Amino acid sequence: MMESALTARDRVGMQDFVLLENHTSEVAFIENLRKRFKENLIYTYIGSVLVSMNPYKDLEIYTKQHMDRYRGVNFYEVSPHIYAVADNAYRSMRTERRDQCILISGESGAGKTEASKKVLQYYAITCPASEHVQTVKDRLLQSNPVLEAFGNAKTLRNDNSSRFGKYMDIQFDFKGAPVGGHIINYLLEKSRVVHQSHGERNFHIFYQLIEGGEDDLLRRLGLEKNAQQYQYLVKGNCPKVSSINDRNDWKIVRKALSVIGFTDDEELLNIIASVLHLGNVQYGGEDSGSAYITTETQIKYLARLLGVDGTVLKEALTHKKIIAKGEELMSPLNQEQAASARDALSKAIYGRTFTWLVNKINGSLAFKNASVIGLLDIYGFEVFQNNSFEQFCINYCNEKLQQLFIELTLKSEQEEYEAEGITWEPVQYFNNKIICDLVEEKFKGIISILDEECLRPGDASDITFLEKLENTVGGHAHFLTHKLADGKTRKIMGREEFRLIHYAGEVNYNVNGFLDKNNDLLFRNLKSIYLSICLAKLMEILMSKEPSYVRCIKPNDAKQAGRFDEVLIRHQVKYLGLMENLRVRRAGFAYRRRYETFLQRYKSLCPDTWPNWDGRLVDGVSTLVKHLGYKPEEYKLGRTKIFIRFPKTLFATEDALEV
Ligand code: ATP
Ligand code: MG
Repeated sequence: MMESALTARDRVGMQDFVLLENHTSEVAFIENLRKRFKENLIYTYIGSVLVSMNPYKDLEIYTKQHMDRYRGVNFYEVSPHIYAVADNAYRSMRTERRDQCILISGESGAGKTEASKKVLQYYAITCPASEHVQTVKDRLLQSNPVLEAFGNAKTLRNDNSSRFGKYMDIQFDFKGAPVGGHIINYLLEKSRVVHQSHGERNFHIFYQLIEGGEDDLLRRLGLEKNAQQYQYLVKGNCPKVSSINDRNDWKIVRKALSVIGFTDDEELLNIIASVLHLGNVQYGGEDSGSAYITTETQIKYLARLLGVDGTVLKEALTHKKIIAKGEELMSPLNQEQAASARDALSKAIYGRTFTWLVNKINGSLAFKNASVIGLLDIYGFEVFQNNSFEQFCINYCNEKLQQLFIELTLKSEQEEYEAEGITWEPVQYFNNKIICDLVEEKFKGIISILDEECLRPGDASDITFLEKLENTVGGHAHFLTHKLADGKTRKIMGREEFRLIHYAGEVNYNVNGFLDKNNDLLFRNLKSIYLSICLAKLMEILMSKEPSYVRCIKPNDAKQAGRFDEVLIRHQVKYLGLMENLRVRRAGFAYRRRYETFLQRYKSLCPDTWPNWDGRLVDGVSTLVKHLGYKPEEYKLGRTKIFIRFPKTLFATEDALEV
């Protein structure tokens, strides 16, 4: 091989799916992934999209030497890597002066957060720095451990699962140095604060504080060094995780807090401790049914830590405010209501603290008007046994991201052909806009119907909402309920469910709680934030930038290195839309290369172009391919690039080099 940084091992399988001979075959696609995964080649392209397999082990591919290898180098000269994507976005931002974004998707545990950290590290290490820039770089990097401590938790699927969505802008000055950043967080899973499923944990910070907190500190906070003492930490029956060192992480987090400018984190820790105390507040019941608090110690600590009066706090935890005849009254709660009021308070406190923390980080990163590379790391498509309003929001958001992906990949293909003066041949593809419309259309989409039902006085309930859906969107090709048109029932579905046929697959949603969750003020606030992802804000941010895509795949559910679970992987290939992506990319030309690059690589194969071609580049390439015997239907010459239709043409040329 000539002038190539690629070794024989790097070339196992195809490093770009576009070059697969049988590009419509899912079997061939999976086989290529398998072959490469076996050799620890976790990255493969589909054109400019990076497919990344989680290796579940540390590979020696993230060193400074590796970073250097990808600086200023074209995609095809080196093996596929997340650094190539990072470098490419950086170079486009610098040369084309266009803001960029890197969209990372994949299911829980597929490696999205790790990928986003690698991108951030790449910029922190390779971009120019001054003293001020070094401070920004440190803060950008240190924002991660802090956000992970407060926003990540051990789940069944991932020991370090992000329980919030994150969009982060990295801002660069005219010299290409990172000078600031800005983070937007989405939909923190607050319910985890008060409840965890079996085998799962609460957010990391609680265990870090209990395990790692100094004796003095814990005494001040009134906490014991034993997670088992706290109701909010025992629900999942999983206080310790072998892959997590809470004590060590505590040190890392506190150091990170000081780097991002928390000179005094006392207030923050008071709040975290308060949540644990709140969880231990217990109730008894009067004969009248009214709840009273049986745990005075907790109230004492809470009053001190939150700086509120103990009596007021007790009343707030056992009563609700009602307005009767224009007057505000405190009406007593029963035990069950009081416990849920307590939990609602814990969730609200934690949620607000998280937002406050993100704002504080943003303050320390000082938002500047500069060129930007955005990083999106957001929950993937979710299908559980029982899917509720939360999954509905998350999956709708993924539906929108998929739409953006389809529109932008097609758009950029089309733009490239136009720019190169090559006729665009329309590609047939599934446009999921129809599903997005079903959810979001004004007046007749699912969200509008839900809002309407929430505002309707009288007998509105989850069931009337479902009935309204049946009447309004019942005939839609992507919507089903248990009712069949002929009055019979569909057995596979529950009576309280509706099914959406998403681009990624079918999901049944149970309407139980839809109205409440949509109505709940706290939730409404959260819903509007969440919908702002899909209706305007995030989509707008992303549309204004040039996107790069990283599609992460989880190789198995056991979090094990070397295990390739074909069924699981095939499922992800499907719902990430990778075959569709490949089809679009292959519909026109499999391979395209700038004239300089093409000539440089293959000029030795033609006496007229070797060693130095001094005519126009396009004529050089034309001479070269004629000499190689390319047939007219096999290629096209654009303004700056050659487009080759079939991989085999290129392979023959590559083979000729090796002779
Ligand atoms: P979630 O949606 O639950 O947040 P995720 O897609 O962000 O999941 P990560 O937390 O990035 O998943 O990855 C899960 C785990 O997989 C990591 O903690 C790490 O152990 C392993 N992992 C992911 N990517 C890599 C990698 N490139 N090299 C080594 N290990 C990795
Ligand atoms: Mg994550």
